[in-house]
Amino acid sequence: MTEFDYYEILEVTKDCSGAELKKAYRKLAMKFHPDRNPDDKEAEEKFKQINEAYEVLSNEDKRSTYDRYGKDGLNRQGGGGFNGSDINDIFNSMFGGGFGGSSSGFGQAKRRSGQKYAQDFEMELKLEFHEAVFGCEKKIDISYKIPCDDCTGTGAKNGKLKTCSYCNGQGQVVMRQGPMTFAQICPECKGEGKSIAQKCTSCVGKGFKTKDEIITINIPAGVDSGNRLRAQGYGNKDKHGRRGDLYLSFYVEEDDNFVRNGSDIYIEVPVFFTQAILGGEITIPSLEGELKLDLKAGTKDKAQFIFNNKGVVDVHGGAKGRLVAQIQMKLPKSLTAEQKELLTKLQESFGVESKLHQSSLESAFNRVKEWFKGD
Ligand SMILES: [Zn+2]
Ligand SMILES: [Zn+2]
Repeated sequence: MTEFDYYEILEVTKDCSGAELKKAYRKLAMKFHPDRNPDDKEAEEKFKQINEAYEVLSNEDKRSTYDRYGKDGLNRQGGGGFNGSDINDIFNSMFGGGFGGSSSGFGQAKRRSGQKYAQDFEMELKLEFHEAVFGCEKKIDISYKIPCDDCTGTGAKNGKLKTCSYCNGQGQVVMRQGPMTFAQICPECKGEGKSIAQKCTSCVGKGFKTKDEIITINIPAGVDSGNRLRAQGYGNKDKHGRRGDLYLSFYVEEDDNFVRNGSDIYIEVPVFFTQAILGGEITIPSLEGELKLDLKAGTKDKAQFIFNNKGVVDVHGGAKGRLVAQIQMKLPKSLTAEQKELLTKLQESFGVESKLHQSSLESAFNRVKEWFKGD
């Protein structure tokens, strides 16, 4: 799911006042209201976003949390954020050993002298929603590089190299720009000082061949899109026969019913309006089977019921997130004559209360009358 900035959704600036916010919200909520845009999925989505954004920004506490920590902060209540770079912790617990010298891991992958490729490589791994939530054992087809036997990984025929003519074997060239001079790595030999006399025919000068392998990796429960996992020893092979590391970066598919945000899980629960008014116990699905939800009498649309420890397990082994069940009030699509009669009777039984809008809008009625009086 794409994440949008709440201020952008409401088309307001970061320092806008409460009144400006309300105005912007009203305008947009009316424009994208489902009643005005029947069967328009895009408008429906937009309407949801607008409501979500307003719900947060109209609350002073939530707004300041959001300003400081973003969306994650709202659900974590001060807990540490979790992003790709933190995955080190998983590597350590899974494979033992840390990253050694380079703390940022992949990207600064070392390229040994005389080797034409990096030892580490990265690939994306798609996971189903439940695979990421519960963890899984995954068989993955990978293809890694091994040095070409015929040229011992040099890419040169019979391994024969000549002095690089571009840099005269220095590995660097001096550039001059006005009064400044600075040294640059030779673009021809990439700093090696040597270049290929004649290309190896076996690998067309690349210096490597590829090998396919099926590997089995244990994916820990709780990983999310953007997380990376280091699979130690599944990278490319160097000329000494050592394998580098494979970095798996996850892409987690969405579920039709459960929406995940970090370690929290959201589910929308449709409730018929009569049941929302009367209340009662209903059954809802959760990640681990059914849950009983005690619907209070007079439950409002979009009311949220929170179940602690029913969300996704923290990938670092911390506490589980929450399951948030949000009520989606449903009205009847059509009425039979009998139902209409019953509802009319019901409305009448509420007497004054059913005409609530008239008394609360009285000043507005009067003002409009004033405007047109005498003109
Ligand atoms: Zn050179
Ligand atoms: Zn070769």
